[in-house]
Amino acid sequence: MSDLRLFNTLGRRLETFAPMQAGEACLYTCGPTVYDEPHIGNLRTFVFEDLLRRTLELFGYRVVQVMNLTDVEDKIIAKARERGLSIDELTAPYIDAFFRDLSLLGIARAEHYPRATAFVPQMIEMIGALVRSGHAYEVDGSVFFHVARFPAYGRLSGIDLCQVRQGERVADDEYGKDDVRDFVLWKATKPGEPSWESPWGPGRPGWHIECSAMSRALLGDTLDIHCGGVDNIFPHHENEIAQSECFSGHPFVHYWLHSEHLLVDGEKMSKSLGNQYRLSDLLERGADPRAVRYALVSVHYRQRLNFTAESLEHASSALRRLDEMKFRLDHAPLLATVPESGDLVTRSAAAVAGVREQLGDDLNVSGALGELFGLVKEVNRRVEGGVTAGEREAVRASLCTIDSVLQVLDAEAWRQRALGVTPAATSGAGPCDQEIESLVARRTAARQGRDFASADRIREQLSELGIVLEDTSGGTLWRRR
Ligand code: AMP
Ligand code: ZN
Repeated sequence: MSDLRLFNTLGRRLETFAPMQAGEACLYTCGPTVYDEPHIGNLRTFVFEDLLRRTLELFGYRVVQVMNLTDVEDKIIAKARERGLSIDELTAPYIDAFFRDLSLLGIARAEHYPRATAFVPQMIEMIGALVRSGHAYEVDGSVFFHVARFPAYGRLSGIDLCQVRQGERVADDEYGKDDVRDFVLWKATKPGEPSWESPWGPGRPGWHIECSAMSRALLGDTLDIHCGGVDNIFPHHENEIAQSECFSGHPFVHYWLHSEHLLVDGEKMSKSLGNQYRLSDLLERGADPRAVRYALVSVHYRQRLNFTAESLEHASSALRRLDEMKFRLDHAPLLATVPESGDLVTRSAAAVAGVREQLGDDLNVSGALGELFGLVKEVNRRVEGGVTAGEREAVRASLCTIDSVLQVLDAEAWRQRALGVTPAATSGAGPCDQEIESLVARRTAARQGRDFASADRIREQLSELGIVLEDTSGGTLWRRR
């Protein structure tokens, strides 16, 4: 079996993925700051993380993923105040919108969606320990991390600290720092702001400590993989490393993966340019969420993605080709024996192996799509003359395995998804039917390939999601426990 290789921002090189626990991958993904609906740039990063998760699963790993919801932060507080709302009242509709967008784009649910406001005691515990060990200090009820006490600071981003010293402006509420590079762990309260009691008086956590505390609480001191968009590398992830490693004395993360930004018509999205699109804006203009996923997933995550009307048209026409091939395959005359012109059973197994190899090369999605369309071409060439029942089943099973990662092939599932997505139906963290069916299909494919270890792992994963399987002669049935 070939390896999975990933580009590690830490060290900036391709590395073979080797998790801490055999067969398991723990993944922390920085989630949305919920003061607005996600924009399509955020969604690009979430789709990349979904592709990574599904690729890990294709390689047989059981994934435990955490995606935090940042629900206390300057912009949230300012907006809640402006509207006369509590934090919960302000963030609730945006959290619903986030889950709705995940469902609309076929993004598999993480195992945990912790909210920062539910983990403040854990943040206070970490900050307290950092103060006691001399890595942090208090000034007027705020606590700052002492960057000079962590010599490895800057290793992830390669940032030149002298530049930071000269260039950075001190935020209004961060005066009092010993060093301009130091960053805030705890902010003393200001009138009218939400606050929590702490050993340094009432206040609230800084943004960076939120992810360090939530990842530790749910995944432990060391993570296999941590992801985010490139804008997170500095200072957010650099600061997370400093806090977590000084607290625990262990390496924080083995593999750092960052996705490049999405641009709209070649420009950075911004409110002033009026090009900050949300998924709901695109849908209102008649875009098909399946084509949006295709457009987001089909550009390699380390390349900038230029989102344009043409990229959506291109996605739609690629999807049409896939649908037409499936239709032709469904309606092809049935033959008793495989003709001389080629064997689709072998061809489809080769396509799955090819897709796996391409995705294993740092998620080379263009290569994977090349393999898929190679199979499409072969099927189209063969269908008019007819296929055997075995060939048809083999092509279908291969497409199902490929789609367990790409999630663009099943037109009917997308129709159902669009009909079934309402905020009420999606705000919970449970898996939807399509996700369960996709896991069941992957387990079937693993069993067919005699990969019983992966099949067992998927059964366990389903069991943890509350799904009971029954293998019958007609296939696998599932029900919620
Ligand atoms: P935020 O809600 O701003 O905290 O961002 C959530 C995620 O979206 C983070 O991983 C960001 O790095 C990522 N992100 C923000 N803007 C973009 C963009 N234009 N393109 C791709 N990812 C982005
Ligand atoms: Zn984070």
